[in-house]
Amino acid sequence: MLEVARLTVRHGKHKAVEAASLTVAASEIVVILGANGAGKSTLLSAIAGLLPCDPGARVMLSGLELTGLLPSAIVEAGAVLVPEGRGLFGDLSVRENLRLGAFASRAREDEAENRERVLRLFPRLAERRWHKARNLGGGEQMMLAIGRALMAAPNLLLLDEPSVGLSPLLAGELFRALDRIRADGISVLLVEQNARKSLAIADRGYLMEYGRIVESGRADALAVDPAVQRAFPGAPR
Ligand code: ATP
Repeated sequence: MLEVARLTVRHGKHKAVEAASLTVAASEIVVILGANGAGKSTLLSAIAGLLPCDPGARVMLSGLELTGLLPSAIVEAGAVLVPEGRGLFGDLSVRENLRLGAFASRAREDEAENRERVLRLFPRLAERRWHKARNLGGGEQMMLAIGRALMAAPNLLLLDEPSVGLSPLLAGELFRALDRIRADGISVLLVEQNARKSLAIADRGYLMEYGRIVESGRADALAVDPAVQRAFPGAPR
């Protein structure tokens, strides 16, 4: 459903991503692994339309060309990013943050239904609905950021290091939630440094080094791949 080909993104003269190609199929969880500075966030931001890419790239979502579209048009096409740092509105309540997620016209009609679905996925958000986002714990903030993205009724969720700052227990809960989101028919492309937990739930993965995709394969094969072992000494053998 997502096809990225020859994507090059520069920060000034520096090529942060060089000729990256990847795919995500329907109802698939795909993880992009890589050390700090490998270019993972840049790649995800370019897919979401937040950074321009060099000519010659092709980003297709379910047959629609995304290259050159505004970020808002990419949301309307069905790809929604949960950025690093989560991008919540701290002074707004949980309920209000969720409402903002339904701003996309593709989602307005089904707002109530989508909210029900989000609250079933994350019942804790229902309990905390009147609390300001800034007063939530780290795990709750991540649930809210994902919940807000789901309010836009995406076909593809783009997640930038969702497990950062979470305890192992909460990270486990997060990855289980991604599994349930996939079961709902939503594809997930996530960037992670937690190789072990993300490969345990992913179908496939890619490894980035210095802006290039250097390995790809099924998650179980990547978990024992020497290049992944080198990049993430904690990954399972
Ligand atoms: P991290 O896990 O630290 O977020 P990453 O793999 O997501 O790392 P990017 O944030 O995409 O990597 O950064 C890729 C390269 O681009 C790095 O060398 C980084 O220093 C550089 N870079 C990132 N953002 C900018 C920017 N706004 N201006 C200039 N250079 C940048």
